[in-house]
Amino acid sequence: MDPVLARQHMVKEQLEARGITDTRILGAFREVPRHKFVEEYLKYRAYDDYPLSIGFGQTISQPYMVALMTQSLMPKPQEKILEIGTGSGYQAAILSRLCGTVHSIERISALASRARKVHDELGYYNINIRIGDGSQGLPKEAPFDGIVVTAGAPHVPGALIEQLGEGGRLIIPVGDESLQELRRIVRTKEGVREESLGGCRFVKLIGRNGWES
Ligand code: SAM
Repeated sequence: MDPVLARQHMVKEQLEARGITDTRILGAFREVPRHKFVEEYLKYRAYDDYPLSIGFGQTISQPYMVALMTQSLMPKPQEKILEIGTGSGYQAAILSRLCGTVHSIERISALASRARKVHDELGYYNINIRIGDGSQGLPKEAPFDGIVVTAGAPHVPGALIEQLGEGGRLIIPVGDESLQELRRIVRTKEGVREESLGGCRFVKLIGRNGWES
C-alpha cells in the first residue's frame, strides 16, 4: 500500500477509533513516515497494529501506544521534552513535530546512530540523541516540561521527578519484567500527582535506576 494511504488508515482505524483525539497529534502521525524507522524486510508491516523488532532484542512500539503516551504527555510548541529509550527514533520524531526541543537517550549506540541518520534524512533537526543510561535522566538539560520513558521500570526513578519543571509530566511504564502499568506523574507546586493509564508491556529499562542488565 502507498505509505501515505497506509498512514491515513492507521490514524483512522488504530488511533481515532481508540480515543486519540488531539488534532495536532493525529497530524504528526499522518506526517511522520513510520516505514523509515524499521528495517527493509519489515517495511510492509510498518503501519500494522503491533510492535516490531528493531534488532538488539528491542522494539518499535505499537502505533497506538506511541500515540497514547504522546497524548498523555501533552507536548506543546516551545516545550523541552526528554525521551528515555530512543530505539528506532520514531517516538522522538513524533514529539519533534509537537514541541520545541526533544532530547532522547539510548543505551545501545548502534540504535542511536541509526535513529540520528533517519532524523537527519527527514530534516528533523530539533532532536538531540545521546548515548547513555537514561534511567538517571539528563540533569544537564533539566528542567523538562515532559519526560517519556519508553522502557519498563521496576519503580519510578526519583531522579526523573526531580528533573521535571513545575507543571511537568512524566509518562512511565512501571511493573515487573513481563507486565507494567503506564503511569502519568505531574509535578505541581503542591507536590506530585499520580494516575494510572492502564496496562502495557515494554522491554526492560536497564540501568542504575532500572533493571540490572
Ligand atoms: N521509543 C522507541 C521507538 O520509538 O522506537 C522504542 C523504544 S524500545 C521499546 C526501548 C528502548 O529503550 C530500547 O532501544 C532500549 O535499548 C532502550 N533502553 C533501555 N534501558 C535504557 C536506559 N537505561 N537508557 C537509555 N535507553 C534504554
